[in-house]
Amino acid sequence: MNRDRFGKIILSLSECYDAIKAAHQGTGHGGLQATTKLINEIYYNLTQEMVKLFTETCENCQLKRNKTKKGIVVKPIASNHLNSRCQIDLIDLQTRPDGDYKFIEGTKIKEGQRSG
Ligand SMILES: [Zn+2]
Repeated sequence: MNRDRFGKIILSLSECYDAIKAAHQGTGHGGLQATTKLINEIYYNLTQEMVKLFTETCENCQLKRNKTKKGIVVKPIASNHLNSRCQIDLIDLQTRPDGDYKFIEGTKIKEGQRSG
């Protein structure tokens, strides 16, 4: 294995992919910065462009990025008085937004009984 004068590993072209993959996984699928930082500590001739290409196409990272957010359903508000509340339905379309629109909202005013 070839090394430069600082002891960094000089890779042949065929070794680059595996080296980037190992470093990227070593950072726990870290982003471009974390992966590049680790790679620059070990290897002599891997460019940030190569790392960028790898991290952008990493299947695991893409799945992670597209994961649906959880915990967006809030606790309903209870009410003790008539005529004091309305009902709002939210249809969550965050996974299939229409441009900037991510929810459909419907509001219904609850009619109370008249006390006489
Ligand atoms: Zn990844």
